[in-house]
Amino acid sequence: MDCIFCKIVEGTLPSTKVYESDTVIAFQDIKPEASVHILIIPKKHIATMNDVTADDDQVMAELFTAARQIAIEQGIAESGYRLINNVNSDGGQLVYHLHFHLLGGEKLGPLNA
Ligand code: C5P
Repeated sequence: MDCIFCKIVEGTLPSTKVYESDTVIAFQDIKPEASVHILIIPKKHIATMNDVTADDDQVMAELFTAARQIAIEQGIAESGYRLINNVNSDGGQLVYHLHFHLLGGEKLGPLNA
């Protein structure tokens, strides 16, 4: 399968990893849009939020656990952050492997600016 995030999971494409568990990894976005910009992804290939099923309940919970933990580690839990999931074309999704953008470390602008 030609998925860049699967390649990052496999380690055949480099990334700056900040978190890893059995089911989830997180790494620095290569084009950061805020002081902190980390992508949190399941190791399992799930194309979009529309493709999540009840079988993925555990992995979804682990994505949010990772987000909370990374926010603490990055020192932005109290100041605040944004967790964003883009879905399909109108949502601005460019990579079709489920991911959450964790953005923070500065005052973020309006959502749809
Ligand atoms: O939500 P969306 O699909 O638009 O976001 C994809 C994100 O993946 C972008 O922010 C892009 O910079 C990032 N990316 C990355 N490393 C790659 C390819 C894309 O961090 N090798």
